[in-house]
Amino acid sequence: METNWGCPVCGTDNSIKAWSILSSVDQPALVERLASTGSIGSPCNPCGHIIDVDHPILVHRGDRWGSTVLAYSPASPAVAPIETAGEVAEGLAIILLSNLGITDPSHEAFIVMVPRLALRNLLIRDVRADVHTPPGQLRLPADIAGSYRSVLLRLRQRLGYE
Ligand SMILES: [Zn+2]
Repeated sequence: METNWGCPVCGTDNSIKAWSILSSVDQPALVERLASTGSIGSPCNPCGHIIDVDHPILVHRGDRWGSTVLAYSPASPAVAPIETAGEVAEGLAIILLSNLGITDPSHEAFIVMVPRLALRNLLIRDVRADVHTPPGQLRLPADIAGSYRSVLLRLRQRLGYE
């Protein structure tokens, strides 16, 4: 959806597309950009400052993660209460899976919840390699470690490793 967002540098309101669901199926370039730069912002019209909308976002990295692992970043606590983040993420995941044509009710999506600034660290992970790495040998950035480790543990349990 388009949203009006004030530029933090010059104060101009810009109309910017805020993504609630970003999937590599229909937006591969944006997912790649988020993974490589951490930003999918748009330039401010008069001053060119890149504005990143503080908005909850669910990211589907289907090319690398399939539809089992999803990344979710809530908006900052100043914008949305953190307690509702889980519900919002689950709701977005249902919409995403339905958009992907996955209607099997037993299909479980594991959602890794990380702060926006940590999304990049998460999106560059190779889940398929990480799930096969013994947890004690996995070196992870602190800002994704807790949530990502718990999802990897559940994946390992499903695969029968634990
Ligand atoms: Zn500006």
